[in-house]
Amino acid sequence: MTATELERLKQENEKLLETLEVNRVVSSSLNLEVVLGTLMEKAKVLLEAEASSLMLVDDEAQELYFHTVRGEKSDAVRKIRLKMGEGIAGWVAKEGKPVLVPDCSQDPRFYKRADQLTQFVTRSMMCVPLRARKRIIGTVQVLNKTGERQFDEWDLKIFEVMADQAAVAIDNARLHEMATVDGMTGLYMKAYFLARLDDEVRRFRTQGVPVALLMSDIDHFRRVNNEYGHQAGDAALVELAQVILDTVHELGGEDMAGRYGGEEFCVLLPETGPERAMEVAEKIRKNIESRPIPIEGHDVHITISIGVSTLPEHQQFLQEAEDMVKFADEALYICKDNGRNCVALYEPRT
Ligand code: GH3
Ligand code: MG
Ligand code: MG
Repeated sequence: MTATELERLKQENEKLLETLEVNRVVSSSLNLEVVLGTLMEKAKVLLEAEASSLMLVDDEAQELYFHTVRGEKSDAVRKIRLKMGEGIAGWVAKEGKPVLVPDCSQDPRFYKRADQLTQFVTRSMMCVPLRARKRIIGTVQVLNKTGERQFDEWDLKIFEVMADQAAVAIDNARLHEMATVDGMTGLYMKAYFLARLDDEVRRFRTQGVPVALLMSDIDHFRRVNNEYGHQAGDAALVELAQVILDTVHELGGEDMAGRYGGEEFCVLLPETGPERAMEVAEKIRKNIESRPIPIEGHDVHITISIGVSTLPEHQQFLQEAEDMVKFADEALYICKDNGRNCVALYEPRT
């Protein structure tokens, strides 16, 4: 073996090790944005490319759109969508085969408009399909090898390993969402919500970290169903859930909204005392009151009532995590008794 060959082998080994290293990042984070961002950045550096990107299949439109982009001109790239079969990525997504294109100007599959729109000059490219449970869910690509060498078969192999890591991460995130998020409202399902409540109550017990729980119920919701029908009622529920999600996001933090029952929503507020909990509840109540829901051309004014339970304040009466739900529910009944459209903090009867 010549010295050059030996040097080459050493470099390839190092890259392989780095690829394995990436795996650790991928499996240690649950945040898909972080995982894919890290992966595409690593692909760019490791494969000595000017840019890297990940596209996902939009099943309905049968198009590819950019999800993660690393490199110059990233913002301009994001607007581009490709039909299945269009461009090199479209070809890869359709055929399910990886490609190495040493000179894009000589490849009839290359989509020139992307370069025109972004004012980027693509010389060489590697593109690999993302496959999850036998379906193509997207593609990854690296553009323009920097330095002297061209992309080679070894680079492609490394890239395929990274593509598999990305596909697994995406698939896991999607499965997790399907198992935990209510498809109708986009809020967490009851079982998952209660598991998270359990985590937070345990955190309170072991570390003394405060936690708050809101339980809301729509006022006279039966009337909406009776007047406009159950389907319109469902549409109203979706809108109301969105107001809660928007409010929670707007406030930032770790707050988490769930659908506890048909028209009962709940919010878990980690590291939150009664004062902030009541503020958040009041904000949600007001936002819903002030945003009429359009139903069949009518602006329907819907209100909700919210009960609040907090730890440590209610710990004396707490046996299990779900007791917080019971307490918030009791406070909710007080709201209903007091004429609805209001917020109440649980007051234990001693
Ligand atoms: P209040 O809470 O103010 O006492 O009155 P309410 O009319 O809202 O009464 P309650 O909360 O006891 O009843 C809930 C009603 O909400 C019963 C049912 O018709 C309706 N509901 C529950 N789940 C759903 C759902 O998923 N979709 C629709 N459209 N309606 C639902
Ligand atoms: Mg109810
Ligand atoms: Mg109700």
